[in-house]
Amino acid sequence: MELRLQHGILHDALTGLPNRLLLSDRLSQAIKRSQRHPDYHFAVIFLDLDRFKFINDSFGHPVGDRYLVAVATRLYRCLRAIDTCARMGGDEFVILLDDIASVDQVISVAERILQQLDRPLEVSGHLLHSSASMGIVFGSAEYNDPAEVLRDADVAMYRAKAAGKSRYVVFQPAMREAAQARLALEHDLRRAVTLREFVVYYQPIVNIHSGKLIGFEALVRWQHPVHGLLSPAAFLNIAEEIGLGTAIGWQVVELVCQQLAEWRQTLSANDLSIHVNLSARQFMVPDLYARLVQVLEQYNIPPQSIKLELTENTLMEYSQEAAAVLAQLRNYGIQIVLDDFGVGYSSLSYLIQLPIDQIKIDRNFIIQIDQNHHSQAIVNAIVNLARGLHLEVVAEGLETVEQVERMRMVGCDYGQGYLLGQPLPTEEASQFLQRAMM
Ligand code: C2E
Ligand code: MG
Ligand code: MG
Repeated sequence: MELRLQHGILHDALTGLPNRLLLSDRLSQAIKRSQRHPDYHFAVIFLDLDRFKFINDSFGHPVGDRYLVAVATRLYRCLRAIDTCARMGGDEFVILLDDIASVDQVISVAERILQQLDRPLEVSGHLLHSSASMGIVFGSAEYNDPAEVLRDADVAMYRAKAAGKSRYVVFQPAMREAAQARLALEHDLRRAVTLREFVVYYQPIVNIHSGKLIGFEALVRWQHPVHGLLSPAAFLNIAEEIGLGTAIGWQVVELVCQQLAEWRQTLSANDLSIHVNLSARQFMVPDLYARLVQVLEQYNIPPQSIKLELTENTLMEYSQEAAAVLAQLRNYGIQIVLDDFGVGYSSLSYLIQLPIDQIKIDRNFIIQIDQNHHSQAIVNAIVNLARGLHLEVVAEGLETVEQVERMRMVGCDYGQGYLLGQPLPTEEASQFLQRAMM
């Protein structure tokens, strides 16, 4: 009875593997030993399954459980008797390789695990494919505490995930700093959303035949209290990953409507339209339409003054639902712009099926238009196609007079780029607008 109790305290009930407690104990033994004996080395592999959530969600928890047991068995077979394979919870496993002779020995274990998991597993009549991401840490005299080793192994494991999963990454001290910087950024972002530290810059969009200003694209910036003004590239993806993208998106919508209301009132800029970028997540929130209508009404903005920019990838990802949402927005009077056109999936059939009003040709085609005949041919074809479908075309990233000239010649009507106007803070955008209206 006592033995059984003891076993229960130190082992995982599902797989029978050692649990976190027993692993910690063995790991702290290994740390102590390596501090006393310079010839003794150990390594830790932190392993996280790549498809567990998918398997759980699609086949149910009983199958998920059996899948974990089957994986545990495979892992166990890759190890020697002196090694410890523990289940930390969920789909996380930690392997302690004791008394290792070389780095290669550890790497070959990691490779064997990848091979073992690569063969499909039969669980309850389903043939399941599995793979894992692994972070490897080599024990060193620097470590004092099992938690430090596990933290570093975890950091390396995340690198493996980010690099495309189904692989191993060996921990390096520089990763620790990067991980800390990332944690700090996440923390700052949460605070930034609460304190509303985001501002909007406005980049002019002009008619390249008449030179007339027709609108602005709203581009978010983060006024970071320490790092200064940050571009979307420095924070938007991370914000999306931690679920803050939509909150930031709504703050942008609100700032834009506030600003537009002011311009309409003080400068009578009634024809001015503002383009707002929507992330995939923000696009698919169920109350997008209702909330947009509410904000527009609150600031008394006609729907014709707002254009929503979506990328091809967003629309493809949600192709089924997208058409319905777009139709609803368009019925209300909001125009839809397909952003970064040409770099995504670019399925032409989608151009015809989806209710859109305008496409923006990606900057990458414009950059090469002077030198590269292929780019010219592509741009030409895009403009012709768009015209045939009665869509407006905006060229992005116009930086030189020659580029503007070429776009004009192929029949593109609108342009945006540093040559025509940089993204401007509110004050300068107001001045730009005032000059344009004179
Ligand atoms: P985008 O929507 O394609 O916006 C155009 C980007 O190109 C902007 O970068 C703009 O500053 C830059 N750009 C404009 N003209 C030129 C030019 O002549 N040369 C070059 N090299 N670049 C030019 P920015 O402001 O850094 O924004 C990057 C991306 O971040 C945007 O690409 C958009 O996808 C995203 N983004 C910006 N604001 C928001 C937002 O409020 N919500 C969401 N979801 N995404 C946003
Ligand atoms: Mg855009
Ligand atoms: Mg773009």
